[in-house]
Amino acid sequence: MSLKFYHLPYLPLRITSHFGNRHTGIVGATSNHKGIDIGADKSKYKTQTYGGPVYAVLPGIVVKSYYSDARGHVVIIDHGIIDGSDVKTLYQHLYGKGLAVGTKVEAGQEIGIMGNTGTSAQLHLHFELLINDIPVDPEKYLLEVKPVDEDRVRAIIKEILRGAGTEVSAWAEGSWKKATEEGITDGARPGGYCTREQVVTMIERAVK
Ligand SMILES: [Zn+2]
Repeated sequence: MSLKFYHLPYLPLRITSHFGNRHTGIVGATSNHKGIDIGADKSKYKTQTYGGPVYAVLPGIVVKSYYSDARGHVVIIDHGIIDGSDVKTLYQHLYGKGLAVGTKVEAGQEIGIMGNTGTSAQLHLHFELLINDIPVDPEKYLLEVKPVDEDRVRAIIKEILRGAGTEVSAWAEGSWKKATEEGITDGARPGGYCTREQVVTMIERAVK
């Protein structure tokens, strides 16, 4: 299984600062940015402190949940071994304490609220991808996550059903597999995404 995010950490995805070296605002100075910053949905959240739900990008277990002066409220999720490497994701500057250590999460599950805690000049999510505990650029994985609308799901299901002759459970399994490949997730319900239950309902309707 190759590394792939099943869900975005925040919707919509508006990257305000990339990974790597960046200008600090001080002439000639740069700092090494170990993650990616995602800006708040300004159409929904009007304050500088509260930005709405932050989601797990993959299933996993919360291994850290703490506050520090620099990072503010932080959650770190361990996603286990993928491609032979230990994969974790980190979510910082959260509004308040996120999920507790030991909590099992699904992709798309809310793990905290976007905030402006710690050393943070504005409301945003600082997101890191840690491979064997070393931060790497998560941008391409974020850009690969595509919200799927209901019409798209119906088209997928129709395509699966065209190869009829197999049992309904096999159709459902095939449809779900294809749907997850298209970016549909099994977690919470942020706009544009479908859950397994919704996909199964649509399959049942199509079969009858
Ligand atoms: Zn950042």
